[in-house]
Amino acid sequence: MDKLALPAYDLLPETQAFLKQGTLKMLIGGDWVEAQSGETIDVFDPATGEKIAEVAAGGAEEIDLAVQAARKAFENPSWSRMSPTERGKLMWKLADLLEENAALFQELEVLDNGMTIAAARMAMFPFCSDMIRYYAGWPTKITGQTLPTDPLRYGLEKEALTYTLREPVGVVGTITPWNYPLGMLTMKLGPALATGCTLVMKPAELTPMTAVLLGRLIQQAGFPEGVVNIVSGKGETAGAALAAHDGIDKIAFTGSTEVGKIIVKAATGNLKKVSLELGGKSPFIVFPDAILEEVIPATIRASYFLQGQNCMAATRLFAHEDIYDRFVDGVSQLVKQFVVGPGMNPDSTMGPLISSEQRNRVMDFVESGKQEGAELVVGGSKIDGPGYFIEPTLFSCPTDELRIVRNEIFGPVICVERFGNDDLDELAKRVNNTMYGLSGSVWTQNLSVAHRMARRIDAGQVGINCHAPLDVTHPFGGNKQSGWGREFGEEALDMYLKTKSITAVT
Ligand code: NAP
Ligand code: MG
Repeated sequence: MDKLALPAYDLLPETQAFLKQGTLKMLIGGDWVEAQSGETIDVFDPATGEKIAEVAAGGAEEIDLAVQAARKAFENPSWSRMSPTERGKLMWKLADLLEENAALFQELEVLDNGMTIAAARMAMFPFCSDMIRYYAGWPTKITGQTLPTDPLRYGLEKEALTYTLREPVGVVGTITPWNYPLGMLTMKLGPALATGCTLVMKPAELTPMTAVLLGRLIQQAGFPEGVVNIVSGKGETAGAALAAHDGIDKIAFTGSTEVGKIIVKAATGNLKKVSLELGGKSPFIVFPDAILEEVIPATIRASYFLQGQNCMAATRLFAHEDIYDRFVDGVSQLVKQFVVGPGMNPDSTMGPLISSEQRNRVMDFVESGKQEGAELVVGGSKIDGPGYFIEPTLFSCPTDELRIVRNEIFGPVICVERFGNDDLDELAKRVNNTMYGLSGSVWTQNLSVAHRMARRIDAGQVGINCHAPLDVTHPFGGNKQSGWGREFGEEALDMYLKTKSITAVT
């Protein structure tokens, strides 16, 4: 491996040791292995553009080996016959280990993804450990039903009984994005382990580091080998091989709508089950009686968290004409206060974008906003120097038809639009005029307006005087082209279970 230029941050000794250990390997069937091709992928710190690690580049061969290992583990009585209590205990142990390593996870995520250390502290723990703990309570509570059965159908002399079994769907492949790496892994791992599935996990090529640490802790917790396999690699190779593999029973995907559609097509070979958490362009609707002193700071969190690289981000702000100017002015004042800098700098309140490509993509949207007649209220430029920084940006948009209003930008670029005294159905038509339907929020003191509007928003999750209030117990997922299925909470279990009905004539 080349000599690495470790950034001059004040890093924990554990983080420094993690970065110095050489090529990060893949976990397949309980062994840590390099790619058979010998290929690696460089891992960059988006705040400096410098290489900080390298990871094995798994491909179709490694995916195949991992699927075989996961199948063997699925059929192995040490997992398939493990008591639900034991499974829950292992998961609880894993949650404890995650929490014990929280500071290391957080620093690795900051270095890998660019999020600020404050965001990492706020968003990663206890959320990721709670996700595993919540599902650790489920193995003992997954039950079937007994169902009415017509005894006469089987003859007068006979009795009949029908019951259902809820069985694990089998070997699950997960494919996840770079914007919230550990969170994405744990929200799929929790329900998959609770139901008794085994997994092959492909983390994002741009952010593989926390997945490697997670793999080590899974081993340390004592899960039987092969229950969880982690194959780092590129989407077009490792991801595509996983999505198409006949030995995979279900794919749990989070990422862009575009790649989601590729996954669906790849899954047709064996008609594996597919769940999808995809893009968003979520509305944030401010009625004239909203308490602006509360709404304005909430807008900043809802829109710019993770540099706007957040599927639930509030990116279409609808403000009533009576408060439009005050709202836009208040938000822009706060946007100007962002301290943009490396996530490891504790003073930074906004970090870099994930990559140079992502920055180019976002800047292309900014330019199109300027050209199409949106008013640039604040920001709008790249920040020169190392790293992939741009200014947090706010546009006031005259129509709903601009490219920046219609597309998911996945960066700190937000559009505000005006609405008048339209009735709620008219407003809802505008709000729902998007291919996405992930999240949304309504800001008002009027309870009737709040609930009527919340019901009219076509999205998987709506906040009233809050935006995207994530909780491990609340179902989360998208309508329309924002996805298939719901993660979190009890509902996620359904995606990892299959129901068998058994009728006994006695
Ligand atoms: P992406 O490009 O769709 O990638 C997601 C994952 O799919 C990555 O692991 C990627 O590998 C892999 N992949 C790419 N091409 C593939 C292929 N042909 N076959 C199989 N796998 C393939 O998304 P991203 O840019 O990483 O993440 C941003 C997107 O994720 C946004 O659209 C955002 O809204 C969405 N997202 C949704 C949610 C949600 O819960 N609804 C949450 C977060 C993010 P590589 O790493 O090699 O590219
Ligand atoms: Mg990619």
